[in-house]
Amino acid sequence: MVMDKAHKEMRAYLMEHESKQILEEQGISTTGTRMAGSADEAAEIFRALGGPVALKVLSPSVVHKSDAGGVKLDIRDEEQVRKAFEEILSRFGDVEVVGVSVQEMAKPGLEVIIGVTRDATFGPVMMFGLGGVFVEVLKDISFRALPIGGDEAQDMIEEIAGHALLEGYRGSKADIPALKELMVKVSDLVMRVPEIAEMDLNPVFLYPEGYKVVDARIILGERLALLPTPRGDQNFSKLLYPKSIAVIGASGTKGKLGWNVFSNLVDHDFKGKLYPINPRADTIRGIKAYPTISDVPEPIDVAIVLVSANTTPDVVRECCECGVKYIVVESAGFAEMGEGGKMIEREMMEITGPYGCRLLGPNCSGIINTHSNMVQSIGIVDALSQGNIGLISQAGVCAAGMLWGLRHIMDFGIVATIGNKLDINETDMLEAVSHDPNINVICMYLESVKGGRRFIDVAREVTREKPVIALKSGRTDAGKKAVTSHTASLAGDDQVYSGIFRQAGIVRARDYEHMFNLTKAFSKQPLPSKDGVFIITYAGSLGVISADAVTDNQMRLAELEPENKLRLMKLLPEYVGGLNPVDYTFSQDADTVCKTIEIGVDSEDVGSFIVVLQAEILGSYVEPLSRIDYRGKPVMACVAGKEFAMEDVISMEQAGIPVFSTPEECADAISAMYHYRKRVKEGQGSP
Ligand code: ADP
Ligand code: MG
Repeated sequence: MVMDKAHKEMRAYLMEHESKQILEEQGISTTGTRMAGSADEAAEIFRALGGPVALKVLSPSVVHKSDAGGVKLDIRDEEQVRKAFEEILSRFGDVEVVGVSVQEMAKPGLEVIIGVTRDATFGPVMMFGLGGVFVEVLKDISFRALPIGGDEAQDMIEEIAGHALLEGYRGSKADIPALKELMVKVSDLVMRVPEIAEMDLNPVFLYPEGYKVVDARIILGERLALLPTPRGDQNFSKLLYPKSIAVIGASGTKGKLGWNVFSNLVDHDFKGKLYPINPRADTIRGIKAYPTISDVPEPIDVAIVLVSANTTPDVVRECCECGVKYIVVESAGFAEMGEGGKMIEREMMEITGPYGCRLLGPNCSGIINTHSNMVQSIGIVDALSQGNIGLISQAGVCAAGMLWGLRHIMDFGIVATIGNKLDINETDMLEAVSHDPNINVICMYLESVKGGRRFIDVAREVTREKPVIALKSGRTDAGKKAVTSHTASLAGDDQVYSGIFRQAGIVRARDYEHMFNLTKAFSKQPLPSKDGVFIITYAGSLGVISADAVTDNQMRLAELEPENKLRLMKLLPEYVGGLNPVDYTFSQDADTVCKTIEIGVDSEDVGSFIVVLQAEILGSYVEPLSRIDYRGKPVMACVAGKEFAMEDVISMEQAGIPVFSTPEECADAISAMYHYRKRVKEGQGSP
């Protein structure tokens, strides 16, 4: 009804009484929806309500009522009601006023805001925050993509810094179950009525029992387009483990990209068959070449395309006609170059679609799968060890020396570059890589998400089993959007992503280095099951810093049991101070550290270790530390100045113990692992 009327009048903005009517129909409690057209009607509503009231202007052209002087509060007698009514009418004499809302005056409560806006990627998202300065100045807000259930509402509430206020502070206390129910009802409403583009419930008053929605506005918009569903076969095992690869544009000339890609496959001993395609060569790297892919007599699982962008569609068509199901376009010069390139991309989608052929890229650097000795990269890649890390990213992250350096201290299983994500996107790849039994940890570098809502659903499934660490860079210009609601103006790209990553159980990395630090820790060490950390150090200051870092990261110092304390005291020289951190003051060696760790392993309260080691004798620790049975408790080594002891650092890393330069990095990694386990794997809510 309300919406039909708005449609007829070509209005997107639903006034307060209309918005509240929609809410009331959901069983949401508001301060009232009644409207007075005259002073007499205002007086009548006042008498019927039988208590103090608020009067507010109702006009399709007044969005911020109090700013314009259209809100009169706490009116207690009939004469004042009539007077307020007349005042509002005369103040808004020059705009269309449909009437005046006369509503119950809500008793004071804790003010919160619940808002909904549409995110370009994820569709409807909800915002929650405390009212007033908390939102305006501190931006203390949380986001989730809709729909949400009660647990997610709880998570949103706990995520804001001010949530302690809701749980009871100086007598203020909020009915959290009622608040959660309200949030879920709003979510249900928005999912059921896709025309709702934006909504602000601002403020909502929370009470020790129940709540009242004091003000509401809804903005209507076009129905959201259906989110893209995956396009065809989602089983990518042949793409990740092909038995045969054709390289179209393979070259025998050193320095050319066609040389690099083909040589990577040859030099890493790809386990399947290789077919270089080049009309001007008989053999490349000693392997028989074919003029076109149609000349190859055997079936081909994957075709890598390296020809120039404008000839790519023809080559893609030929691949499709030959029955190739996976095409990796590594050439550049497509959407990233503007409209012309976008046209070629659309053409490739049209060609591949009917064949059910899937396309990776363009503008990517192929896939590395160390478990099948497959390196499709555009740059020459040195020897890699086989590992359990799945890295999904734009091509660039894998360039710039990243693999060259990290291969010494990290073991990659699959490195999948997705480039322009024309067809196969980050979500498809996440799903595919997560199914690979060789992969235990997934690291993603994202500049955008093309999978939309499906990204959240897939990631949520994946993260229950395997940790996903993601770095999101590149902010869209939120300021460009036409913004009517408060929520939309606060929905900066970045905060929405933080909410969505949490919702999906993804560990969000702050920056490039953090992403690899976390990936390294997750891939080498088990997840701590307790939050107690045991610190062993050779220098007091680093022990103190470690202890601070542990608490700063929502972990705590472990407390040894009396018998373990005794064992430890027997071990310690006289001048050693505390029992956690244990500070060996430069008398530390591999033997003492091992014995100390063993006591920690026996202690119930110890969930993990931070071991601060001297760079100058780091090598002497490698073998002894790697021999200990940690019984599932992770250990992180902190080595100040580690960049000057790289050889030993590499040995330590290869022995499976991550090495960081600062105590903060160690504590951060341990905390991320512990909280991932609690929150995502065991589903116990936010820390
Ligand atoms: P707007 O946001 O359009 O300026 P509101 O309806 O939110 O107008 O009113 C402004 C402020 O007045 C609210 O933030 C709230 O503090 C107070 N207020 C409005 N209506 C009521 C009411 N029915 N009971 C109690 N306080 C109210
Ligand atoms: Mg308001």
